[in-house]
Amino acid sequence: MFTYIDPTVRERLAEQGKLIRIDADGQRIDPHSAPEPGARAISILGPIPLPLERHGRRYNVLWYASVRHTELSKATELADELREQHGQQSFALLADSMAVNSVLIFGRPDRWDNPLVRVHSSCLTGDVFGSERCECGPQFISALERIDADSAGGMIIYMSGHEGRGIGLWAKAATYLLQDGGENTYQANRSMGLADDSRDFSDAASLIKYFLGDRPFRLLTNNPKKVDDLIAMGVKEITRVKHVCGVGAANKRYLEAKRDWGHKLDDADIG
Ligand SMILES: [Zn+2]
Repeated sequence: MFTYIDPTVRERLAEQGKLIRIDADGQRIDPHSAPEPGARAISILGPIPLPLERHGRRYNVLWYASVRHTELSKATELADELREQHGQQSFALLADSMAVNSVLIFGRPDRWDNPLVRVHSSCLTGDVFGSERCECGPQFISALERIDADSAGGMIIYMSGHEGRGIGLWAKAATYLLQDGGENTYQANRSMGLADDSRDFSDAASLIKYFLGDRPFRLLTNNPKKVDDLIAMGVKEITRVKHVCGVGAANKRYLEAKRDWGHKLDDADIG
């Protein structure tokens, strides 16, 4: 992941409309002007055609990469400084600290009719390694399948900074060790002095407003808090759609803890 873009390339992409900027309400704003102090702005790169193949099935989606402008401008500033000092080899240091979120678009957003949406929190162990300690991997694949098969269209917003419900991969590794000592997924967070769930969905809300406006949509989630968080950020027309998959012996306790915490899962779901 390398988040710095050369200024001449940035300029060219902005001219072509492939690098845009939106405000918190999902409205397009001038990509050149500095946002008001304290205002949230998101830069978006795309569309990038991305042919996908997972579990023998193929999907054609458009990929957009998005990043908060505050983080982006800090990286740009640092990169300019480094270039002046001929410190280009240090550019890679910039890459890790920024959350670049992704949007995968199925179909044409202007023709969507009550589309199916998944806001998926990144999970390296589940999504990439296939870990069965959680159900993130199967939930992601199932979201691809369900949205692709749905004539209404839809999108997946992949939140890259949401590892371990927002605590980061390093802390998540520690909570796994605490869980192996007998604590459940939420107790382990509390033992570390961390919130049960520290995910920030404000960028997801802005991206939904940009691609969907005020139109109604269906959200694939078992988590009512995710719906409440999006509603609190002005995304109103949400119908929650259950998204149970990947349940097995390795994650039964984890899912029971989620159910007891408020996720809409019943005994039949957990098995
Ligand atoms: Zn996971």
